[in-house]
Amino acid sequence: MKILIGHFTTESNEHIPGKRELKDYVLGYGEEIQDLMELRDVFEKNQVDVIGSIYANGHSSGPVEKNAFAYIANRLIRDVETYRNDLDGILLLLHGASKVEDLVGSSGEPYILNKLREIMGPHFPIAIVVDPHGNLNQDYVNQATIMRSYRESPHTDMFATHQIVAQMLIDLIRDNRRTKAIYRKLPLILGGERSVSSDEPVKSINQLLDQVEKDPKILSASWHVGYIRHDSQNIGCSIVVVPTKMEYQEYATEIAEQLAQFVMERRREFHFHGNALEPEQALEEALNFKGGRVFITDSGDNTTSGATGANTLILKQFLRLTDFNKKKILFASINDPEATRLLLRREIGEVVSISVGQGFDELCQPIALTGKILAKGDVGNLHGIRKKFGDAVTISLTDYPIDVVVANTGISFAEMHQYDGIHVNPLDYDIVIVKQGYIFPEIDEIADLSIMSLTPGATYQIAEKIPFKLISHPMFPIDDF
Ligand SMILES: [Zn+2]
Repeated sequence: MKILIGHFTTESNEHIPGKRELKDYVLGYGEEIQDLMELRDVFEKNQVDVIGSIYANGHSSGPVEKNAFAYIANRLIRDVETYRNDLDGILLLLHGASKVEDLVGSSGEPYILNKLREIMGPHFPIAIVVDPHGNLNQDYVNQATIMRSYRESPHTDMFATHQIVAQMLIDLIRDNRRTKAIYRKLPLILGGERSVSSDEPVKSINQLLDQVEKDPKILSASWHVGYIRHDSQNIGCSIVVVPTKMEYQEYATEIAEQLAQFVMERRREFHFHGNALEPEQALEEALNFKGGRVFITDSGDNTTSGATGANTLILKQFLRLTDFNKKKILFASINDPEATRLLLRREIGEVVSISVGQGFDELCQPIALTGKILAKGDVGNLHGIRKKFGDAVTISLTDYPIDVVVANTGISFAEMHQYDGIHVNPLDYDIVIVKQGYIFPEIDEIADLSIMSLTPGATYQIAEKIPFKLISHPMFPIDDF
């Protein structure tokens, strides 16, 4: 059995300056894709011959620059054309939240699937793993043989889902079955911070999906949160159900309808994970907390959802204070490549005066800082990816109990290996400010309290206040019903 695999991820936040270029992608080819997607074991166990096409991970950022997308898409299309006569199936990770410059329909994922269908025809097995934070539509989903998303947010089941879907595809090919994914759009928009899977109603939705997947007529069932950081007619939650065989299509459509009802009945129960407070209240709560270490997440500048990480708003809030209630504070981090470049030239222990803040909008206005260089290091990426992502220099401010990590990349310090990489220990601080929305698991473990500060910015959390032009109506909670 021969399966071709590929990966394309970009969450396109259109509220930030700039485009995602090819140089910004983590790229992989051939053999290594199996490891990057953690698929080697499942393929080896099933004695599958694997053709690795392209792995292109652009994470969260702006819209995709057209030449970057053309390179990624063409590589996939060319490889499928080359091996078309040898292939038994295709397995792709297509995130679902891309917006591509000058592309009709704007999303890159349906374009890729369309092109592959043109080559392989309508019945060839193509399985797609999707991130639940992507937008879907009828045409796109119906072209997939299998489509299934991660259950957990944060996505602790990402690699497990790759393996589950790979096994589904292998079994389908082996049994010579055919099927088709069924789509049901929901009139509901949600931000990721209101749909954390350890909270209700997501917990119950996931339990129901697990139960549905035990049904012998159902291969997979997913609930998709959607993506709200660029305007599109496809925005909104949805349900995707895949029957085990074509003959169960009608049954699967009924199941999709039942799942849709289950979610919509709970539409008012979605809520922010943990404490979500306006910026002034968040600051006050953190300063007055007596129970230990507090993490504040700058949710309007959440780099895990495409923001730049450049905003200086919370730093300004703290610099206005005269009484810090004996707290020691860490900002991890502020994205400013120019300030980082200048700081990298100086030695640890040197006292420097520097302007931090890129100044491309009112939320990242520069601030003059004076302090001693405390540490320098490499910025590691999220999801355990230890590949160097950028540089960071930490300065300890003169006259303030505040240390600021200045980096040449927008990054969320959400995992402990990232702090090791920059030689700063979050356990040394009482208050740590990170560029995140909901708190990530490793941080949650060392936080006695986490507060989501509802800051303005590219990832503003009150979805119903974001102006959409292309969205369909009625749409809860923009339209209340
Ligand atoms: Zn996601």
